[in-house]
Amino acid sequence: AKESGKNRYVLYDKIMNKDFTERMNIEKHLHTAMDNNEFELFYQPQFDLNTNKVTGLEALLRWRSPELGLVSPMKFIKVAEDTHLIIQLGEWVLIQACDFLSHLHKQGLTDMKMSVNISTLQIFQSDFNTKVLKIIDYFKLDPSSIELEITETVLIESFEVVYDKLLKLREKGIGIALDDFGKGYSSLSYLKQLPITTLKIDKTFIDNVSLIQENKTITQHIIKMGRSMGISVIAEGVEHNDQLEYLKKYECDKIQGYLFSRPLPKEEVEKLLKGLK
Ligand code: C2E
Ligand code: CA
Ligand code: CA
Ligand code: CA
Repeated sequence: AKESGKNRYVLYDKIMNKDFTERMNIEKHLHTAMDNNEFELFYQPQFDLNTNKVTGLEALLRWRSPELGLVSPMKFIKVAEDTHLIIQLGEWVLIQACDFLSHLHKQGLTDMKMSVNISTLQIFQSDFNTKVLKIIDYFKLDPSSIELEITETVLIESFEVVYDKLLKLREKGIGIALDDFGKGYSSLSYLKQLPITTLKIDKTFIDNVSLIQENKTITQHIIKMGRSMGISVIAEGVEHNDQLEYLKKYECDKIQGYLFSRPLPKEEVEKLLKGLK
């Protein structure tokens, strides 16, 4: 028994060390990644089930490190937040996404919208609103063509400050999406007060929407709730046809997922959009 305990410890140690080394490596190379132009945005289409059209794109960050290869945002966003690099990086993301959207509009895709993920730390910056509005203005975009995706953590950490800022952005026409909806716990109380335009049903509910009754019920309720509050509902991580069928049946507004398209580099997504036109 003693022996196996020791083995288990060795394994644990190995796993922890691997994570630790990986994190150290990410940290080491992340701060030069901006200057070395190693970041890129991919874009995933959001498909409207009412009109059968792509109405928007979500910008998703990619990091191609010469040393580490393609690193998932799941791994480096956390490090970027801990090191506060996310503030600069997040601004870069917004600029790139607006630049591309303005390009698409000039290509005749005039109704296309853009969703951009915003980290809690960005919103907490005192000049966050000023920066967002400046960037949108610079690219001569209608603020209503931009949607900021936030998560519940931002609300839990400092409701008053965030509420105020979001309200002001909303008043300018900017859309606000609540990401990963359903995963947290305080969603409902915030929903009524916040200027939310879109709810994104978390992938974990969509994964087994046709198999697990609980997921079915939750999905159905989120859609109903969105409708009654005039909030658009989008399902994320839709991979299979049976999921799509359920979402259609429940009258979900939009879907996003591999079933329709994976996140794509800008040239590819532009080609896809032009082909659909
Ligand atoms: P998220 O905002 O919830 O984005 C959805 C994630 O699900 C993306 O992962 C997307 O590629 C993936 N996805 C979309 N459809 C499917 C599907 O059908 N099946 C599966 N299995 N996955 C699907 P990704 O691109 O790896 O991003 C992970 C997370 O990293 C994002 O989750 C978001 O929280 C964060 N992130 C990405 N880009 C940015 C950014 O520019 N800024 C900030 N602050 N966070 C970002
Ligand atoms: Ca998102
Ligand atoms: Ca999400
Ligand atoms: Ca997520």
